[in-house]
Amino acid sequence: MAVSADPLRLVVGDKAAKRLASVLGLHTVGDLLGYYPRRYDKRGELTDLLGLRDGDHVTVQAEVASTSVRKMQSRPGSTIFEAVVTDGHGKLTLTFFGRGRQDYRERELSPGVRGLFAGQVSSFRGKRQLTHPDYELLGASSPGVRAEEYANELIPVYRASAQLPSWKIAHAVRIVLDVLDVPADPLPADLRGRLGLCGYADALRGIHRPVDQADVARARHRLKWDEAFTLQVLLAQRRLAAISYSAIPRPLADGGLLAEFDRMLPFTLTAGQRQAGRVIAADLALDHPMHRLLQGEVGSGKTIIAVRAMLQVVDAAGQAVLLAPTEVLAQQHFRSISSLLGPLAMAGQLGGAEHATRLTLITGSLGAAARRRALLEAASGAAGIVIGTHALLEDRVQFADLGLVVIDEQHRFGVEQRDALRDKAGDGRPHMLVMTATPIPRTVAMTVFGDLNVSTLTELPAGRSPISTHVVPVAERPHYLARTWERIREEIGRGRQAYVVCPRIGGGEASGEASGEASDEASDDALFDEPGLGPSRPPVAVLELAAELAAGPLAGLRLAILHGRLPAEEKDKVMLAFADGLVDVLITTTVIEVGVDVPNAVVMVIMDAERFGVSQLHQLRGRVGRGADPGLCLLVTEMPEAAPARERLEAVASTADGFALSRIDLEQRREGDVLGTAQAGRRSSLKLLRLLRDEDLIGQAREEAVKLVDADPALAGQPALAAAVRGLVDAEQTTFLEKA
Ligand code: ADP
Ligand code: MG
Repeated sequence: MAVSADPLRLVVGDKAAKRLASVLGLHTVGDLLGYYPRRYDKRGELTDLLGLRDGDHVTVQAEVASTSVRKMQSRPGSTIFEAVVTDGHGKLTLTFFGRGRQDYRERELSPGVRGLFAGQVSSFRGKRQLTHPDYELLGASSPGVRAEEYANELIPVYRASAQLPSWKIAHAVRIVLDVLDVPADPLPADLRGRLGLCGYADALRGIHRPVDQADVARARHRLKWDEAFTLQVLLAQRRLAAISYSAIPRPLADGGLLAEFDRMLPFTLTAGQRQAGRVIAADLALDHPMHRLLQGEVGSGKTIIAVRAMLQVVDAAGQAVLLAPTEVLAQQHFRSISSLLGPLAMAGQLGGAEHATRLTLITGSLGAAARRRALLEAASGAAGIVIGTHALLEDRVQFADLGLVVIDEQHRFGVEQRDALRDKAGDGRPHMLVMTATPIPRTVAMTVFGDLNVSTLTELPAGRSPISTHVVPVAERPHYLARTWERIREEIGRGRQAYVVCPRIGGGEASGEASGEASDEASDDALFDEPGLGPSRPPVAVLELAAELAAGPLAGLRLAILHGRLPAEEKDKVMLAFADGLVDVLITTTVIEVGVDVPNAVVMVIMDAERFGVSQLHQLRGRVGRGADPGLCLLVTEMPEAAPARERLEAVASTADGFALSRIDLEQRREGDVLGTAQAGRRSSLKLLRLLRDEDLIGQAREEAVKLVDADPALAGQPALAAAVRGLVDAEQTTFLEKA
């Protein structure tokens, strides 16, 4: 008898266990049982041989059509045995080199015999072949089994490799299943009963050795529940644990800075802003830490919400910190929050309000004296609000009484960074608000940020004009590019400004954008940098395009460039000049992606737009149309009309709904990319579950998990479930350690 934790060696023998460990990384019985088939072939249904491509590792089911043996000229005594197999249409040659006449092969692989053949596809003299494939012959049916039944039997096909073909994996699984002690079912019996889920042992047999497709479907559904439910139980436990920490309550105060700020606000808050504000205000008043994610479209006005939360904390004698992912963004927050607060942030200065606080900026580019002053203001508590970049995470940054941590553009930060700031609070934990403008589908939020509560801003402030987006297909309409530059000239003529975004910096750098402040331009969309996805020339570069435009289509306009290789002060100078209207056209990389706010900029041209991800394009265009004038975004591409990349661009052009686009992003990207490296452990635990398709199941699993954990937080009554949750934590920690 075997149990999940047993080493495979004990069950399948040393040799097979070594293979399974070295090729597939499977060490225990449980590992192997969790290695699910990729597909199921019907015995009697031959593989389409015409669909094979060179280089593929394949397992094909085919019938031997003919064989031949010939002597090798170069090696006397050796022969080449060839069997041609077929699916009825295509042909594939199996080639075996050997000593002697290889009679045994001729006996085994006689015409008419069917089998599974595994190997790597290559071409030789125009013929597809497998060299020395591994094979397993499909014998005749056993007596008593009707031919039809036999032909319909499902053969599990595992992701395999040349060293370890699918049926060897299947064989090991069969041995394991035969000697397995029926494992305790991790799903509570009551849940299974209510939802009609099959038992664990049945599910394992059903997924590895199904009788029919219905069997597979039942097993998959049940095993998806295992994945979703275990994860949601873990997250529910974490939420519960998080609230068990204490935090200093920072309730709303009358007559403080926040009240004064609200009186001074030059606009009225949107209903969504008021609603999110109310929820956050209530969270802050509790004696356990807030853990809230605020998501909202680009330009939906998240910063105001953060500022109001920070003022509430300052009014309650605490400090607040705002962490931004880039220098440019931190500087901009500092300037715009300074001007929003006006006299409220001018403590000790002429014209400062009575209870005024102070705003302090801490970034890597501060001079020594300025940094000393800033550190002192933070540590003494003189600064009620501290804004900064990663520099805030350093040990020397200390606070007198840190009450609230706000993280802008959360997707740029990992969990470790969240924790680094959290540890700077003295007693208990600070409240935490993380913000993101990358709208994520509900299930991703539940899976990735499942330990956070979520507030969502769905509307934009009134008076915003919609952005119109068009694809500029220069492959079919080369003259549209000239028209694009004319459009920019027209807008500049009306006193407006424009962005031109390029995928690359240029200037002779060896490869990509990995330079300067890496976090500025580290693209989340490396997928789209793969060769073959764009034209074969290098992507358009800022430095080169700027020179061309200055000499040609945009001659005479005030052009400036911005990219991650510029020193921080230079970047800030350029951004300031652009914000002040001293620059007409900013030619830039995605360094301007997040948060940059220049309402007078109304046009954005994105070069080689197919190189950016859907959500990234949506973010980028959010930079325009921030004022009263309608924004225009032009997606320039050389991709032909039928290319999938063009469809992506058309999708971006056709909707302004960031949530809809984030779903498209999720459909097109590997789930692991969406979950991110910080969640690598989580990714590997989601084998069957698909974040889009299984939305309902995930939602239901979450509800059930919350109910269970509320009733039995330590899972005392569910030992098998508790063990599964521990396994998930271990997997996360392992990947985390491997990363470190
Ligand atoms: P994001 O959510 O992308 O961070 P911001 O907070 O930068 O958006 O807000 C975008 C712009 O909208 C800012 O200039 C901000 O002052 C302005 N804004 C925010 N809320 C409102 C509102 N209720 N009415 C009008 N303008 C607003
Ligand atoms: Mg923002």
